[in-house]
This record gives sequence, C-alpha cells and structure tokens, in this order.
Amino acid sequence: MDDRQFRTAMGKFATGVTVIATNLDGDVHGMTANAFMSVSLDPKLVVISIGEKARILEKIKQSKSFSVNILAADQQELSMIFAGQLKEHREVEFDTLDGKPVLKGAVAQIACEVSAEHLEGDHTLFIGRVTDIHLEDAEPLIFYSGKYRALVEEKAVTV
Ligand code: FAD
Repeated sequence: MDDRQFRTAMGKFATGVTVIATNLDGDVHGMTANAFMSVSLDPKLVVISIGEKARILEKIKQSKSFSVNILAADQQELSMIFAGQLKEHREVEFDTLDGKPVLKGAVAQIACEVSAEHLEGDHTLFIGRVTDIHLEDAEPLIFYSGKYRALVEEKAVTV
C-alpha cells in the first residue's frame, strides 16, 4: 500500500473542518484540521491530531491549551488561510472564550486545556479537557475527498 492510496482512503471519510488555535505569550496561531473527535462525556474530552511539521505543535505543547473552531459553510476562506493555501497573509480577528482564542461565526467554539499528549507515528494526539463551549446556529463546512462541500438537506422519506 502506498501513501497516496492511504490518503485517498482516509479522504473518503467525510468530515467537518476546524481551525485549532492557541495563544502562546500573546501570540495567536491557528491551523486548519479535520482530525478531531469527541472522546468522553464524563469528563468532557476531545482529541486532535497534529503533524510533526506543523508549527502549532510546539505552541500547544507550551501553552497547554487550545480551541477547536468548527467552521461554518461560509468560512471556507478561513480554512484556506489556516491551511497555508492562500499566498498573501490575511489579518484574522479572534475573540476569546475562557481565555482561549476563538473564531467569530464558527458553528461551535470549544475551549480546551491539554490533559494528555501521545506521540503516534508522525502525529501527536492532544487530549483536550473541554472548559467552555459557544454555539452558533449555522450550517457546517464539509470536507470530502480533498474538496470543500456543503450539506444538502434530503427530503424527508416517509415509510
Ligand atoms: P503555518 O503554516 O505556520 O500556518 C498556517 C497558515 O495559517 C499560515 O498561512 C499562517 O499565516 C496562517 N496563520 C496562523 N496563525 C495566524 C493568525 N493568527 N492570523 C492570520 N493567519 C494565521 N494538519 C494536521 O496536522 N492535522 C490535521 O488534522 C489537518 N487537517 C487538515 C484538514 C484540511 C481540510 C486541510 C486543508 C489541512 C489539514 N491539515 C492538517 C494541514 C494543515 O492545516 C497545514 O499543513 C498547516 O499549514 C500546517 O500548520 P502550521 O502550524 O505549520 O501552520
């Protein structure tokens, strides 16, 4: 099995899109990520997976906190900014939730403290203890097979 086949297969799992953000000594850094899931309800835990080359990795290790911002359908540009897919630098304004930087207009802003980290292969898994949440009533941005998508509401099926 080669790398491309593995990546193609993993891309067949449709996900939302998040921006992970952290504040280290007043400097806010964000990164687009879709490796995110809920882990536990009691206590409330989530997990994110950060590649070894990502600059945010060391920042989260030091700040020991991060936010997960689940992007809305109209926030594709933010995803591209924080994935380094736009050539020019754009200023992005952050709000604060429980002291963590969060993105205005995200479907969900989830503030976390790092409760554990695990190095696995070329990624580090951070377990985040959720300290606060803010929700907006908006549709999510979707990522599937390397492309951004939007949710389409199916007509209700009557049986
Ligand atoms: P950098 O390359 O340092 O930053 C990324 C971009 O964000 C740069 O252009 C930078 O200018 C901009 N930026 C950062 N902070 C700010 C700020 N405060 N204001 C304005 N701009 C800012 N990688 C993973 O490790 N895990 C994943 O789960 C993951 N999922 C992804 C899902 C999708 C849909 C995509 C498109 C990419 C994903 N990536 C993931 C890849 C990852 O987003 C990129 O490799 C990223 O560029 C690496 O981040 P970095 O910390 O090195 O950030």
